[in-house]
Amino acid sequence: MERTAILNWLREESEARLSDLWREADAVRRENVGDDVHLRGLVEVSNHCLRSCAYCGLRAPNRALDRYRMAADEVLACARQAVELAYGTLVLQSGEDYGLTRDWMAGLIRCIKSETPLAVTLGLGERPDEDLVAWREAGADRYLLRFETSNPTLYHRIHPPLRAVAGSGHASRVTRHASAIPRLALLRRLRDLGYETGGGVMIGLPGQTYADLAADILLFRDLDLDMIGVGPYLPHPATPLGRHSASRTPHSAFGQVPNSELMTYKVVALTRLVCPWANIPSTTALATVNRESGRELGLARGANVVMPNLTPPQYRALYEVYPAKACLFEPPEAFDAALKRRIIALGRTIGTGPGPSRKHHPAAPAASAHDRGVPCLP
Ligand code: SAM
Ligand code: SF4
Repeated sequence: MERTAILNWLREESEARLSDLWREADAVRRENVGDDVHLRGLVEVSNHCLRSCAYCGLRAPNRALDRYRMAADEVLACARQAVELAYGTLVLQSGEDYGLTRDWMAGLIRCIKSETPLAVTLGLGERPDEDLVAWREAGADRYLLRFETSNPTLYHRIHPPLRAVAGSGHASRVTRHASAIPRLALLRRLRDLGYETGGGVMIGLPGQTYADLAADILLFRDLDLDMIGVGPYLPHPATPLGRHSASRTPHSAFGQVPNSELMTYKVVALTRLVCPWANIPSTTALATVNRESGRELGLARGANVVMPNLTPPQYRALYEVYPAKACLFEPPEAFDAALKRRIIALGRTIGTGPGPSRKHHPAAPAASAHDRGVPCLP
């Protein structure tokens, strides 16, 4: 699909024509990654962050936020719960927190890999090469690092570089390449290290144009990503962007992309069309803008992954990336049972095992849980 076609779809308003896009994305999803919906247990390991991203509630200057860092045995308890719920992957996500040291993380990854059959996905921000190497050697399988926008000017406006971080070891490298997007270089490096790599963007960032968003989608293809996460930008009042976005966001007539539910479905569907093999989550941000059916509509319009939150209840509300996040209070067992029922009701099947990238495992059968005779419901 070419840039013009992507731009036309992003601007399309006709429900009848959009239903063709949803149908096509769903067909391409079925053909390439099958009917399985892979469930990845999410653990928000720490909300400490030394960054000052202009959009995120975890940013270091947000002094109103109580900070936490989970203990290793708490994370391991979440890993055991993921196994009990028959999830195949554990996603360890956090702010950019050097309190999660290279050795501590490597030890934790080793424990999870030796005690469970789980694949381990990391989303710990921009860490030095030595950390990424050590964690891969410890057995981590995948790394998520959204590049947020492919427009370098917008990127640097919302994602300031680290100036000096004692002990982080990479501040100077980031500043030297200030004109480029450091997260793109990191994604390439992660792939070279053998990680399955995941990127993505926020939709409707103030200052993001339709041309930017079309370029983001084409970049997903150029980067040959295994996993692609897209979700609406949701303003957080304790951030520079959130404080000013309501008054400063130009009207869509001037080329500003809206941070709407509909725009998110368009991007999910177009992403599926340009990256047929990718694992694409129906994100919590989407479920936040439509609590009733956002997750299902994402799955029906190109997505094939959901990431149920396994973070212990005492920490969940503190991982406040944006306000009013969906599923803050649901216990994992209740959420899991309801989610699996809703997936089955969509005519889809529950994925079993780690659900790796089909690109890395082209011989992996697309067979569903039903085909394998595996019960889908507890
Ligand atoms: N610190 C790691 C990083 O930045 O990659 C991982 C955690 S960070 C909270 C995960 C993702 O949350 C970011 O990549 C960003 O896309 C998303 N995010 C942050 N603030 C957001 C906001 N206000 N609205 C929607 N998504 C947001
Ligand atoms: Fe920190 Fe990630 Fe939030 Fe940026 S997006 S402030 S790196 S947690």
